Amino acid sequence: MLNIILLGPPGAGKGTQAARLQAARGMVQLSTGDMLREAVAAGTPIGRKAKAVMERGELVSDAIVSALIGERLDAAAEQGAIFDGFPRTRAQAEALDLLLTERGRKLDQVIELDVDEDALVERIVGRFSCAKCGTGYHDVFRPTKVPAVCDVCGSTEFKRRKDDNEQTVRTRMAEYRAKTEPILPYYEERRLLHRVDGMAPIDQVAAEIDVILDGAV
Ligand code: AMP
Repeated sequence: MLNIILLGPPGAGKGTQAARLQAARGMVQLSTGDMLREAVAAGTPIGRKAKAVMERGELVSDAIVSALIGERLDAAAEQGAIFDGFPRTRAQAEALDLLLTERGRKLDQVIELDVDEDALVERIVGRFSCAKCGTGYHDVFRPTKVPAVCDVCGSTEFKRRKDDNEQTVRTRMAEYRAKTEPILPYYEERRLLHRVDGMAPIDQVAAEIDVILDGAV
């Protein structure tokens, strides 16, 4: 049972790789972005607080996201967890350590998807997902096989994230550089950090992650 973090700027492929690991290894994807979007859609107090912050591309408070992770962590106890989009700050990294230690668990690997920032805007503004089953697509890089029909479930309804526009993406990247990149040494010092070329094709990135998780690196 492994607990791993996928790190990288928006559009690096964290969600894609987390979904694959979930399907292939039965690990549980814990995405604070997904949790927050659910809270916004449901109109909960957290969602109402987070909505405008997310639309600007800024970070939601450490206390809110750490609490969301804490609520879901026990559900991922048996199969192991993939932290996707969390932690994003030093305070969150420390909160995660505490949450794991309290449960007698530990962090096994941290994988940073290394990407060329110029390519990210193109990746992000073209992405959409099936409104029914959540499968991710891209206008150019991964279109549906039959136009406007989901390959997996056949649904014809799709959605795009409100914050996947160029202006917000620039803010999200700046937030990543200012607040998330500085936590890399925190994991490097503990020899947990691995870098994978996130510009490689999806299958190759997946293969490299497999090698890391199987302990060959
Ligand atoms: P994501 O789906 O990971 O790109 O997250 C979408 C948005 O949700 C971010 O731009 C933030 O506004 C918010 N968010 C998600 N995860 C976190 C986090 N760990 N800390 C703070 N804000 C977050």
